[in-house]
Amino acid sequence: MFPIDRKGPSMWIRNASLALATAFLPGAQAETPSVQVRLDARLAELSLDYLRSGQESLLDEMAATPAAAHLLTHARNWHYEVPRDSARALLQSLVTPREARMARAEGARKALAYFQGALNADSSWTAEVRRALPPDATQPVTLFLTFGYDSGVACPGTASLNAAHTAFHRDLRELRYMAIHECQHAVFMTYQPPPAMDSVHSAAQLQALAEYALQLEGMATWAAWDCREKEGGLDGDEDYRVLRDEAQIQRLERRFMEVHQALKASASNPGPADPATRALMMGLYDRDRVFYRFGAYAARQIERQRGRAAVTALIKAGPRAFLEAYLACRAK
Ligand SMILES: [Zn+2]
Repeated sequence: MFPIDRKGPSMWIRNASLALATAFLPGAQAETPSVQVRLDARLAELSLDYLRSGQESLLDEMAATPAAAHLLTHARNWHYEVPRDSARALLQSLVTPREARMARAEGARKALAYFQGALNADSSWTAEVRRALPPDATQPVTLFLTFGYDSGVACPGTASLNAAHTAFHRDLRELRYMAIHECQHAVFMTYQPPPAMDSVHSAAQLQALAEYALQLEGMATWAAWDCREKEGGLDGDEDYRVLRDEAQIQRLERRFMEVHQALKASASNPGPADPATRALMMGLYDRDRVFYRFGAYAARQIERQRGRAAVTALIKAGPRAFLEAYLACRAK
């Protein structure tokens, strides 16, 4: 029923075609070093084996995977509501209670097959990742397939997709689009490391976080936009439906700017921001997905006025420069 043979690290899936992919990049030289993505599905395989067998030792194997370290780093940095004491405790929480988690096993098996097959064989999506990065970016990325954690997440140099997420079960192409999003994050974060939530207290720090989230999520959402558009894949994600609704985007922009102005007004106060201001900022992470939608819109507006290279150059310039570039474009 499940893939029984667990693959060790030496059998990591390697996308051999990626090394050649630079040859197809517009304007790129074939010998130009470029971002390489390595796929690693071991944690998803072990998780499915655990769901099938309930064998306790598998939890130790799961906790020892590089994917587990990636998830723990992510959970600790962003204060996710999961056990954060150890990789084993975190991983155990994702696959228990077994009976309940089994409901996602069938879909996860299909996601695993797609990840190891079509996604691994297709280099067109990694070309989209590169198009959304500075042309001289060479940082390697490992993309893990996991089970039960968010939909997809990223840390500097690593990214993951959750094989158990129902969005992927509805349409396997969503794995590919999300792979573009998360791998773009993974390289972006090597230029602009994510702030630790532990260190965000003052209004100035909240303002910096809002600007960071806008560029981070906006640029990754923008990165997958062309590919979705070309393939008729915009309707699979609410973000891209909203992005075609000008009135909605204007509303989200106003929401962002109001919060940003409030934070800026208190930015000279070094103490912790007042709880209402903090709540206003954290509220931007709600269902409106302001950072993703307004951020992607901002990236595309900059691209339309200044070209794609100007957008990718802003990765090195940073979040404040990204916002300022958008505001300058808007003023024209
Ligand atoms: Zn994201």
